[in-house]
Amino acid sequence: MSKSLLEKFQVAPGSQVRLSEIAGNDQSAFPELDKKSSAKVLEGVVEELRALQRIFYAVHSRKILVVIQAMDAGGKDGTVRHVFSHMDAHGIHITSFKKPTEEELDHDFLWRIHKHAPKNGHIAVFNRSHYEDIIAVRVKKLFPDEVWQRRYQHVIDFERMLAEEGTIILKLFLHISKDEQRDRLAARLTRPDKLWKFEPDDLKDRARWDDFQRAYEDLIGQTSKPHAPWFIIPADRKWYRNLVIAHLLKETLEGMNLEYPQPHFDPSKIRID
Ligand code: ATP
Ligand code: MG
Repeated sequence: MSKSLLEKFQVAPGSQVRLSEIAGNDQSAFPELDKKSSAKVLEGVVEELRALQRIFYAVHSRKILVVIQAMDAGGKDGTVRHVFSHMDAHGIHITSFKKPTEEELDHDFLWRIHKHAPKNGHIAVFNRSHYEDIIAVRVKKLFPDEVWQRRYQHVIDFERMLAEEGTIILKLFLHISKDEQRDRLAARLTRPDKLWKFEPDDLKDRARWDDFQRAYEDLIGQTSKPHAPWFIIPADRKWYRNLVIAHLLKETLEGMNLEYPQPHFDPSKIRID
């Protein structure tokens, strides 16, 4: 693994994204691994992440926001479970954004989002996000086109503000193939532990697969910015998705050259009776 994964998966601002040209089952960042052999590797990376997060928390000067978007069954929950839920609970906050309530719809679309933005020393993970207010609104035609169109600039400005106020932003698009989605939705129907996740309306969204893909291509190209980049993660293989994301986070924390803060007193002069 020579090239940094932050570089490898990052979408250049303004680029023309073509999801159909990116294989969902790509595993080129870890060609030597498979599901079985990756388990130990992930464990090691998550352990390193935990150590880095402890320093990040102690330093208390920056914040991290991870946005996760995907098609249904794209693996958002699995990513949270396998990568983020192993981190120190004090410093991590996970928010799932569902269909807006009436009260939320009565406000501007960032109202419900902003209050979950992270504070110093903390990592916030958005399972779906303000990007639904563009994607879902566009594809399902929930509001007139000009509403989602002008929201591009709103989210760009919002994220620039967060970045300038000390937030490091990583936006992850979990890219699965249409076949993989079929298999995962079908598995929800046959497995009692997954049936609760099946939502018949997801099939309506699946029927609009091409519209969603086009909307994501447009969105990712236009809203990937140096201070808030998108990463397209091949996500048909769950182990690969988890490993790539854990590495992205690790590289981000390592890039901060974190060190525990120096005490404002001389510990050798302290007596505890
Ligand atoms: P899973 O992938 O495990 O099914 P989920 O994130 O799809 O989890 P659900 O409760 O099944 O969770 O679905 C949430 C739904 O809410 C999605 O269809 C999503 O498009 C919709 N949604 C979220 N935010 C918005 C929004 N701002 N406007 C319109 N729809 C939204
Ligand atoms: Mg769902």
